[in-house]
Amino acid sequence: MSTTHDTPLAVTAAARAANGEHLKESPYSSLMADLAENKPDVPIAAHSRQPAEMPRSSLLPSPYRSWPWILYNSARGTWFLILIHLGALGVFFTGATWLDWLLFPAIMYARGLITTIGYHRYFAHRSFKTSRVGQFVLACLCCANLQRGPLWWAAIHRHHHRHSDEVEDAHSPLQGGFLWSYAGWMFATLEDPDWGSVRDLRRYPELVWLERFWLLPGLLLAGACWLVGGWSMVWLDFCLTAAIAVHGAAVINSLSHMIGSRRYPTPDQSRNSMLLAIITLGDGWHNNHHHYPHAAQAGFFWWEIDGSFRLIRLLERLGLVWGVRRVPAHKLQPAVRPPLA
Ligand SMILES: [Zn+2]
Ligand SMILES: [Zn+2]
Repeated sequence: MSTTHDTPLAVTAAARAANGEHLKESPYSSLMADLAENKPDVPIAAHSRQPAEMPRSSLLPSPYRSWPWILYNSARGTWFLILIHLGALGVFFTGATWLDWLLFPAIMYARGLITTIGYHRYFAHRSFKTSRVGQFVLACLCCANLQRGPLWWAAIHRHHHRHSDEVEDAHSPLQGGFLWSYAGWMFATLEDPDWGSVRDLRRYPELVWLERFWLLPGLLLAGACWLVGGWSMVWLDFCLTAAIAVHGAAVINSLSHMIGSRRYPTPDQSRNSMLLAIITLGDGWHNNHHHYPHAAQAGFFWWEIDGSFRLIRLLERLGLVWGVRRVPAHKLQPAVRPPLA
């Protein structure tokens, strides 16, 4: 973590400023400009108490935070992650039935799609539209994935895109190393994200309500598993699938900024990897995604397998989603330097 504080902010800011195209193309630049003019309409308690010299965008605990605050918030943000990992071990004690194993791949596949399509491409990037009922159902499915509420997830992820691989990035392997970006940051206690950055989602009272009670859908799903298949189904089909889905997101947060190729000269170190794309149902085309995060697709070409986008297209054909944003043709090719006159 020592490098975190050594990186001069001015350098990263200058690097971003030098790349005018990406600043202009940022999906949140207009939102942030809006926020600069209008104060967020929800008080952000943690940030409002920060001393003026603290960078407001940092998610790491402020130096004045007490140990009890750090321990309490660390436990509050991670107990459910620990619980699903411990719960997954329960299958060693109960064994599993044929029904548990039959449902396992289906639930695992659904959880992967919910992370990529729900948390990521819909709530964080708004890359397609759906009905208000569809949005709420998607939010409930996200909550059942136990990666906290979709507003928190979206706020953290939008922060990642605004500060990708910079000192403020909550989970950059370049700033904190592999283990930090994979899981360490989740256990390190974070300040509240900028809730103003998800003001578009907070317009819906049902989403704000669900954000408060985000554990409910997960508890209902766990209860349904228990009713249908007993404890072995809870351990295998609820806990283990949720734990694996968390690791899928962790893989993207860490390895997709470390391994693979870079087609587009984005200001961060995002990379494309076929292997990660297969594991994460398309999100492994991460350099593509950082290049054009507005799109509902992460695979830009036919050979770039993107299972999540395939399902989005199917839902589009069925009329369940619409306004699906695709990559414009002129954004497909990497920028080439114009020839000297
Ligand atoms: Zn990234
Ligand atoms: Zn993203």
